[in-house]
Amino acid sequence: MHCPFCHADDTKVIDSRLVGGGSQIRRRRQCQTCQERFTTYEVAELVMPRIIKRDGNRVPFDEEKLRSGILRALEKRPVAAEEVEKSITRIMHSLRATGEREVHSDKLGEKVMIELRALDEVAYVRFASVYRSFQDIEEFRDELDRMASEKTVD
Ligand SMILES: [Zn+2]
Repeated sequence: MHCPFCHADDTKVIDSRLVGGGSQIRRRRQCQTCQERFTTYEVAELVMPRIIKRDGNRVPFDEEKLRSGILRALEKRPVAAEEVEKSITRIMHSLRATGEREVHSDKLGEKVMIELRALDEVAYVRFASVYRSFQDIEEFRDELDRMASEKTVD
């Protein structure tokens, strides 16, 4: 890390400790050139990546949209709400764990498919058959909305 005083390239960690109940690492550093000391904090970056849609547009990750897409695929299927929430948590965890600031919607769709396959075969097939032809979770959701409204008309 560069020295903030003289901008030398080389600084040395002279002390390192956990702070904030273990959620941060505080490091004392010393510049090898000017001998000044300074402190840095290291924290986990836990922001959700933005989603890159098929048309190249970037949209913020929307947990509610993800949930409603999954719940629609699971409509009238014997899956507990708690299991659905666990799946959503796993999907979000794995998106954060990529460490990427932007993730293609295809990647999100694949993660949803993996979770649905484990939750319920019928929901998985529903999702996969429609999703694969759209390749975009938002388009897919719109299609499910359309299917649901047509069903009500019948
Ligand atoms: Zn320095």
